[in-house]
Amino acid sequence: MKITDIRATTVTVPLEAPLRHSNGAHWGRFVRTVLEVETDEGLIGLGEMGGGGAGAELAFAGLKPYLLGQDPFALNRLRYAICNPTASLYNNRVQLHAAIEFACLDLVGQKLGVPVHQLLGGKLRDAVGFASYLFFRYADPKTGAGEVRTVEQLLAHARELKRAHGFTAHKLKAGVFPPDHELACYRALAAAFPEDTLRYDPNAALSVEQALRFGQAIADLRNDYFEDPTWGLAGMRRLREKLPIPLATNTIVIDFEQLATNIRDPAVDVILLDTTFWGGIRACVRAAQICETFGLGIAVHSSGELGIQLATMLHLGAVLPNLTFTADAHYHHLADDIIEGGKMIYREGRIAVPEGPGLGVRLDRDKLATYAELYRSLGSYPYDRDPGRPGWFPLLPNTDFADPRSAATPSLDPP
Ligand SMILES: [Mg+2]
Repeated sequence: MKITDIRATTVTVPLEAPLRHSNGAHWGRFVRTVLEVETDEGLIGLGEMGGGGAGAELAFAGLKPYLLGQDPFALNRLRYAICNPTASLYNNRVQLHAAIEFACLDLVGQKLGVPVHQLLGGKLRDAVGFASYLFFRYADPKTGAGEVRTVEQLLAHARELKRAHGFTAHKLKAGVFPPDHELACYRALAAAFPEDTLRYDPNAALSVEQALRFGQAIADLRNDYFEDPTWGLAGMRRLREKLPIPLATNTIVIDFEQLATNIRDPAVDVILLDTTFWGGIRACVRAAQICETFGLGIAVHSSGELGIQLATMLHLGAVLPNLTFTADAHYHHLADDIIEGGKMIYREGRIAVPEGPGLGVRLDRDKLATYAELYRSLGSYPYDRDPGRPGWFPLLPNTDFADPRSAATPSLDPP
């Protein structure tokens, strides 16, 4: 089997409401790049990457000379051809490689008639559990609905997600409002769901001292972990010396060099594996094996996903023996998907691992065209800008949080 063409298409898929985070927001939609890798046997493999637009499409087009004529089975060669560690200092291709690896695994699985989890040694579970992934949200400016800002709104949102999807773990994406407001929100979640576990993730917006105070104030709760409360291995190490809660990261241990550093001089207890950040599904499997060896916890990170990327997370989650935490997904915040059959479904907080050949998901061509057109009409959005706070950007640690008393619904027109 030989690769004969690759094609990248940027799509925009609407979210139920704009999702706020410590740096800005997802402006009511996700922008993603869908990769198709074609072969001389007529099979098409699917990949996905965050962001999109002309830059991303050109970056994939630029890799055509590396890929045309290559065998999708030759994944070890492909890794060095595309993202040799020292060459990557200049060309920054780890995430491109991840999308290509997804597509090649999809092709290999289709060719052999087996799901990707079987290529990885076989599944250990039939479904992967997920956390609720709660966000503070602006209202949708078209409907006026969906705002999550107050304790009461957050609890109502969490109850609705639990009712609809069956979540038994709740992650609060935070770092938006002053820590005392978020602490009240988090403790209210713990009181509302005493049987469930919790995780708090302010995207490193807190100082070490603020994080220490917050961590001490939640230490009595059923915390899975305290995720990236502060920035940097040294800051996390100071916290780890003082807090009884496991610390997790998806920001400061995202490659094997950092993992080695964290093993030699521990700063973080739980490594959140992201199939894009780490450069593919197989890199995450390797990292998980190292974590198992050294007694570190793991979970599966979400950097925003449509059904293709979600399938990579499901195949990964299916094969990891040491996956004791639920995974994260933004997926239930999406209004739609670009795969055949529509959005995958949560049952009792879990999504079934796809069983079809390869990744087990196929493109819905009509949806792909619809959401490619939506991208063309709306363009990209600045992830690191808050539509309700024009001109604002955070320091790290942040000293100017949003005002939880402000109920404004900002326009989402392109800035
Ligand atoms: Mg995180």
